[in-house]
Amino acid sequence: MRELSDRVSTDSALIDVGSVEAIKERLVSYLIHTVGVDPEFAVARDWLYATASLVRGILSEQYLNTARVEYDQDVRRVYYLSLEFLTGRSLMKNLWSLGLVERVREALKSLDQELDEVAEVEFDAALGNGGLGRLAACFLDSLATHAYPGFGYGIRYEFGMFNQKIENGQQVEHPETWLRYGNPWEFERPAILFPVRFGGHITCFKEESGKTVCHWVDTEDVMAMAYDVPVSGFGSGVVTKLRLWSARATRDFDLDVFNAGSYIDAVKDKTISENLSKVLYPADTTLMGQELRLKQEYFFVSASLQDILARHLRRHHDNLDDLHEKVAIQLNDTHPALAVPELMRLLIDVHGYEFDQAWDITRQTFSYTNHTLLPEALETWSISMLESILPRHLDLIYQINHRFLTEVKRHFPGRPDILGRLSLVDDKARQIRMAHLAVVGSHKVNGVAELHTHLMRQHVFADFAGMMGEKFVNVTNGITQRRWLLQSNTQLAGLISEAIGTDWVTDLSQLHRLEPQATDSAFCERMQAIKRANKERLAALVEARTGVVLDPAAMFDAQVKRIHEYKRQLLNLLHVIVLYNRIKDGNPPAHPRAVLIAGKSAPGYYMAKLIIRLIHDVADVVNNDPAIEDRLKLVFIPNYNVSTAEVVIPGSDLSEQISTAGMEASGTGNMKFALNGALTIGTLDGANIEIKDAVGDENIFICGLTAEEVAEKRTLGYHPWDFYNGNADLKRAVDQIGGGFFCPDDPGRYQPVVDNLLRNGDHYFVMADFASYAETQARVEAAYGDPEAWTRMAVLNVANMGMFSSDRSIHTYAKDIWRIKPLKQA
Ligand SMILES: *Cc1c(COP(=O)(O)O)cnc(C)c1O
Repeated sequence: MRELSDRVSTDSALIDVGSVEAIKERLVSYLIHTVGVDPEFAVARDWLYATASLVRGILSEQYLNTARVEYDQDVRRVYYLSLEFLTGRSLMKNLWSLGLVERVREALKSLDQELDEVAEVEFDAALGNGGLGRLAACFLDSLATHAYPGFGYGIRYEFGMFNQKIENGQQVEHPETWLRYGNPWEFERPAILFPVRFGGHITCFKEESGKTVCHWVDTEDVMAMAYDVPVSGFGSGVVTKLRLWSARATRDFDLDVFNAGSYIDAVKDKTISENLSKVLYPADTTLMGQELRLKQEYFFVSASLQDILARHLRRHHDNLDDLHEKVAIQLNDTHPALAVPELMRLLIDVHGYEFDQAWDITRQTFSYTNHTLLPEALETWSISMLESILPRHLDLIYQINHRFLTEVKRHFPGRPDILGRLSLVDDKARQIRMAHLAVVGSHKVNGVAELHTHLMRQHVFADFAGMMGEKFVNVTNGITQRRWLLQSNTQLAGLISEAIGTDWVTDLSQLHRLEPQATDSAFCERMQAIKRANKERLAALVEARTGVVLDPAAMFDAQVKRIHEYKRQLLNLLHVIVLYNRIKDGNPPAHPRAVLIAGKSAPGYYMAKLIIRLIHDVADVVNNDPAIEDRLKLVFIPNYNVSTAEVVIPGSDLSEQISTAGMEASGTGNMKFALNGALTIGTLDGANIEIKDAVGDENIFICGLTAEEVAEKRTLGYHPWDFYNGNADLKRAVDQIGGGFFCPDDPGRYQPVVDNLLRNGDHYFVMADFASYAETQARVEAAYGDPEAWTRMAVLNVANMGMFSSDRSIHTYAKDIWRIKPLKQA
């Protein structure tokens, strides 16, 4: 085994994968021996599993080697705790990482299979809702690519994000059984098993020494079992992992209990425990106070921490004193914030530490990323629920709070008002504020874009920032250029590499060297041809999924993201209606436009679902009106996910990033589009501001109120009616929605939409921003009429995306927050 070498190999694979011929032989062998299918009758899925088995074996070798190097170098590591990882498919990612794409393509071809068709059969691993989960997946890719020590922890949901179907124009959620054929990437680890406890009560007693010791007793236990998914680094030979926990009934491991009770009850019990890892909560940015969610959060946090401590103890001889020297733990939002009291519990109750020392270790171990300022998304848990499910943790939270408030009193003498605002406990609502717990329990708190961090300091955490300003830092989000350019836009990636070489794949700042190409007509023509090909691919996807035929010559204008009022799909839709009316009035746009919208709504989010329905009703009218011809199309692409994004983004001309200023923490979709040469129409929100600063004001279309103006209007009073009465186009569109123009059989259907815009205060400033948005769209249209100028702008966008790589984000976290260094690759 030692000859695997004790350094991280920079070769693409340690075992000799060899020639195309050798790969072919091994694929056939895996097909027969692992998949168990006759090559004669094998279908694409069988070949997918055979190929994945081959790749998984290589990844496993590299993983073992990486783990050994990490062990030998005994370096500080980071653990990324996230309830979501929106990974998408893995076959092509891993082939790219290993440098095997072409050889595997040829080997499959010699077996009469097309790699692209085989890859297409893979289910998306959709263990996340949207941006937050996708960020976690990009971060793992960057960690592995740059050989940082550490890995991710999450939950192996049996049902990931739901499959969105559209029935009668409405979203219907179907369970996504992504594990139906087995997950070819994971390694089941039946021996890596930790008990997780719930309920019960606390008994404390004084030992002879006078020390008070508490026991958590009479608990109901569930077992957490590990599954490891290898995460390949690009060309680094480093493979890290994502460890996902799956719930198992303790009954399976305790035959006596099983035999003592009734068999049927025991099996029933088993089902209840195993429900814990059954399903991902599909609500993005709204909080869900359900008991099962709380249990999921604790389940995954407890198993991960037990695993981390056991690893540390194996290595560092029964001593956790220096845990924070060897371990950094990142909390991706507050979802894993129970890790703070859980580490305290483990240190105090299990390992015998005093509160003070435990608290020191804890605070130096954790850091927390805040992802949202939306009040409805800030997690709180009811005290009564915590009391019954996690009584010891509630107790520890009270102790933490007591200490913290003592500090606050010292810091702000004579300011009892601040005490109540900073407290971890909301006494009135009888709730625990998880964000406060995460802030107090961490040594660093970061926002995810400059504006977001600024607002976080000014508003949600203003009092905290007044007390511990240095704790709050910014790390702007990023995306991995490996998935979002190299893999999903191979032609553009090839063109870029021809011009500037391939260093950009692991150092995106190299893209700035493309800048001179913006005035090179040959380069720009090729850029146009590539965009055209990507638009044809996207048009084919749209036709296959919706039956609507798009003309690739039209401007492809895309808004793809979760459906949420703050993201303002409605603003886009109002503009579509205005364009429709103008064509009907004999005033058509200079260029045909296809507006593409995709995204899922939380199942219980009434208004978002109504907006999806409205999009469909408007699309029906627009797409079937012969007077419109091909000048305007509106399509809703069902079931937006990572794989859909990989086709939509390269095929779009215009990227819609029009959230109400101050409400989108960062956005990462905005970065993906710009990196693929789409121009952005957007508000001064989240990372849009940094994109504008990077590409220059003249290469982006900015519209709408600023965050400050929105805040000012909120305090001084905002009158949406003024905008309605002051803009004839807008008034007509709103009246059509409210009057049933798009649903004559049920004319009142969209009254709630109009009520929100006019009577309920238009919380998201759609009315206020409409005129600016429509004018900016007119500028977009004019610019699109000059293909040379448009392409020049697109090239400049690509050239200036260097800082939006998740590699840059990870380097910043590593240096400023985690204090970790890449493994030495001797
Ligand atoms: C990038 C991505 C998101 C996040 O998009 P935003 O526009 O930043 O909200 C959501 N879902 C998927 C599938 C993505 O790839």
